[in-house]
Amino acid sequence: MATIGFIGIGNMGTGMARNLVRAGHEVTVFDLDTEKARDIEGATVAGSGEAAAAGRDIVITMLPAGPVVAKVYRDTIRPNAAPDTLFIDCSTIDVETARVLAGEASGEGFAMLDAPVSGGVAGADAGTLAFMVGGSAEGFARAEPVLAVMGAKVVHCGEAGAGQGIKICNNMMLAIQMISVAEGFALAEKLGLSPQSLFDVSSAASGQCWSLTTYCPMPGVGPQTSADNGYKPGFAAGLMHKDLGLAMAAAEQAGADVAFGRAAFEAYDRMVGAGDAGVDFSGVIRAKRGVD
Ligand code: NAD
Repeated sequence: MATIGFIGIGNMGTGMARNLVRAGHEVTVFDLDTEKARDIEGATVAGSGEAAAAGRDIVITMLPAGPVVAKVYRDTIRPNAAPDTLFIDCSTIDVETARVLAGEASGEGFAMLDAPVSGGVAGADAGTLAFMVGGSAEGFARAEPVLAVMGAKVVHCGEAGAGQGIKICNNMMLAIQMISVAEGFALAEKLGLSPQSLFDVSSAASGQCWSLTTYCPMPGVGPQTSADNGYKPGFAAGLMHKDLGLAMAAAEQAGADVAFGRAAFEAYDRMVGAGDAGVDFSGVIRAKRGVD
């Protein structure tokens, strides 16, 4: 069993850290919000990020965005970590920052992996996340058994940054699918059709996708989702907006045609502009339906 420092006990980090504790790892947690850190039964709560990082076999981060991740690795983790500590950043950040941080870590003798996830809060709680991992084969071999405790699928995607690259492609696909499901329900409603009928048919027909059958944005049909809980996140619209911004920047750099991805980015841009960054991303349906 490993000694693990876990920094960032938010919507995702909570379930992930709990699963590490359950698997018997010695977990020390830190979050700027000390209440959240206290939520992990069986873990030691560190008084600072420095204390969480010092003397561990592995440090895992699950933080909001690239600039925060860069600052935490540069100012807090690397200056305090023991030699040979493996760094695993599970946050979703831009490919370039992931590559730069892995290079800096390597220059100081540390292995660092980017290991963003898919599967949402339910996947984090259930230990069924999908991990997309970028970094060295040696680092991946050390990380895999620990990631497997938190996930159902762990894929080595390539060198540093490759995990983040795959992640932003996946989330662009997710955003487009979520909006397609939202528009389907909004159209059905305006046509006076039953949302339950649309769910019953499409969930077993060619319109089937994760955004419909697992994370349905229409309240009252399908499984219990954020839509049935006032669009409490879940996965906040602000985070989806961030991911789509990363995808748009990458597409521009690569010269890729992402017309539907851009339309999705604009939809989340409007949502964030309307002050709904903290609403679940499935709440994008509210503007389509014309409801608050
Ligand atoms: P969150 O905002 O709930 O959690 C982030 C946590 O980091 C917060 O608790 C915050 O207090 C803490 N934090 C911020 N700065 C810190 C610092 N300097 N030191 C210590 N703690 C700090 O976000 P989340 O939904 O858990 O998402 C985390 C990451 O996972 C994001 O990069 C997101 O894009 C990604 N992600 C989220 C989901 C999802 O469904 N929520 C799914 C896949 C990936």
